[in-house]
Amino acid sequence: MAADSQILVVEDEDAVRELIVTTLEGAGYQVLPAADAEQAQRLLGDNLPGLVLLDWMLPGMNGLEFTRWLKRDDGLRELPVIMLTARGDEANKVQGLEAGVDDYVTKPFSTRELLARIKAVMRRSGTDAAELVRIDQGLQIDMTQHRVSANEQVVNVGPTEFRLLHFFMTHPERVYSRSQLLDQVWGRNVYIEERTVDVHIRRLRKALEPFGFDELVQTVRGVGYRFSSQA
Ligand code: CA
Repeated sequence: MAADSQILVVEDEDAVRELIVTTLEGAGYQVLPAADAEQAQRLLGDNLPGLVLLDWMLPGMNGLEFTRWLKRDDGLRELPVIMLTARGDEANKVQGLEAGVDDYVTKPFSTRELLARIKAVMRRSGTDAAELVRIDQGLQIDMTQHRVSANEQVVNVGPTEFRLLHFFMTHPERVYSRSQLLDQVWGRNVYIEERTVDVHIRRLRKALEPFGFDELVQTVRGVGYRFSSQA
């Protein structure tokens, strides 16, 4: 289950970051390492991880500011955040919780504790996300397992179609232009032609077609696309 999960690790101390990367990879996670918030922002332009493990004290934008930045972004605000703090930062923890931090791990930590916290946060947010993205009682995305199901059968979709469907299901009944979809699903720093969107829309419809859910992905002529259960 964890093998599909990607974790963004933001930590400026090389030795600590490397230790975390090794630990997480050993537990079957895919890791995106970043040495500061700016690098993490660039990585989020191309990737949608399942969780962010974030050091509080970073050069430049600190962990708290980075969390606030995440929560202001429609496409990223549901990303769970675990903050790494030093002992004695208890007073700051409230600030972090208010900003949307899901949990804390205090340094120095054992790898066992770290993995247990990650699992717990992923389980909690996975349940929330699964509930959030159920539509028509038949189509469902499970963020924890990175799986789409239709009428309880697995729908095979590629990673881009998965992100596209997740975006549609969390933003239904609204029309998005191709360039808005590129920004939201592919990321702001990616330069791809707008017709790439059409290719992935076609693939997504094809994957949903056997279950009759392809009609939820609607073309709005001259504007873009909408995900809607109303014809
Ligand atoms: Ca640090």
